[in-house]
Amino acid sequence: MATVTRTDILDRLRQVKGPGRTSDIVTLGLVSDIFIADNKVFFSITVPAERATALEPMRQAAEKAVLALEGVKTVTATLTAEKQPGAPNPPLRTIKPSPGHHAPQHAPHKRKNIAPRTPVDGVKHIIAIASGKGGVGKSTTAINLALALQAQGLSVGVLDADVYGPSLPRLAGIHTRPQAVDKKFKPVEQYGLKLMSMGFLVDEETPFVWRGPMVMTAVTQLLRDILWAPLDILVIDMPPGTGDAQLTLAQQVPLSGSVIVSTPQDLALIDARKGMEMFARVDVPVLGIIENMSYFIAPDTGKRYDIFGHGGARLEAEKRNVPFLGEIPLAPQIRAASDDGKPVFLLAPDGEYAARYRDIARRICDKLGLRPIPKT
Ligand code: ADP
Repeated sequence: MATVTRTDILDRLRQVKGPGRTSDIVTLGLVSDIFIADNKVFFSITVPAERATALEPMRQAAEKAVLALEGVKTVTATLTAEKQPGAPNPPLRTIKPSPGHHAPQHAPHKRKNIAPRTPVDGVKHIIAIASGKGGVGKSTTAINLALALQAQGLSVGVLDADVYGPSLPRLAGIHTRPQAVDKKFKPVEQYGLKLMSMGFLVDEETPFVWRGPMVMTAVTQLLRDILWAPLDILVIDMPPGTGDAQLTLAQQVPLSGSVIVSTPQDLALIDARKGMEMFARVDVPVLGIIENMSYFIAPDTGKRYDIFGHGGARLEAEKRNVPFLGEIPLAPQIRAASDDGKPVFLLAPDGEYAARYRDIARRICDKLGLRPIPKT
């Protein structure tokens, strides 16, 4: 089969008119990096988020134009939205396969069809911290949990794969970048953890563009190009959502299990359910659900208020027959600690919140069959 080049693809894409129909999508600078693997082509087109549905025919036209090239087996074009600072995350697009499109990563109903996941050298377990949607406190939970796992005597790393808003540099108060050593990267060490974030790779001022298929490439590379070893456990802070990129990640990374973070409200639980289903589709065990922002602790009186339908995640876990790992309240101290770059687990190691993260960490160790020796 002929080998297709990026130039051929760009030439084809010049035939596709952009949103205003005045010029083509290449000239308008809307086409992302193009990723070619095994004659399969992936790219994304940046559009205003609110026009994503209306521009679906443009996406299809782009796929069709590239599919017509000799040497192209499948084409996956996604629409992406440029994220405005402070704007909510754009909705994830579900990729519709083009006619004749067989990319197995988009419909992996059986793990059997999937290439075996190669373990990462020197890393005993990799777990994914996931949520059906953004803003539920997934990253906050991931970093505190990583610290709680470390307090169990384990060597722990965190890979922040959340391309929407890579928050690890801020949460862990990091101002340095990873150093290159022999074509690999040394993770940044902070608070005894080995840390790597998509955020280290982009300028904080640059609005981060969501590039579905590119995420998978970047993360699988980060996974293998970082000098993690030796680690007992690597915690991956997944991109929020249950779209194609998340599914591909769940499928490509050699995961020992996943942890779902949800808030107690019905709507969040619908997304959490989708998350569990996603991991089930690729045979990754769900180690359990955490209910974050479970109830509210008034900062002035310390009084507890159940105003968010507390307990929804526990019920959902029972219904689905997956373990319930614990509750973390909505507490101003947790937010303030994160904003200051020192997670609450370190800020108040003897406090109630740290104790809760420690309990959850113990449960996770149990599920993974790890027998840690807690640090005193
Ligand atoms: P996600 O990774 O799901 O997008 P983040 O961890 O970035 O969510 O949290 C979103 C916001 O909520 C942040 O400002 C964070 O400090 C805050 N937050 C997360 N968990 C809690 C909590 N238990 N109590 C108070 N604030 C929280």
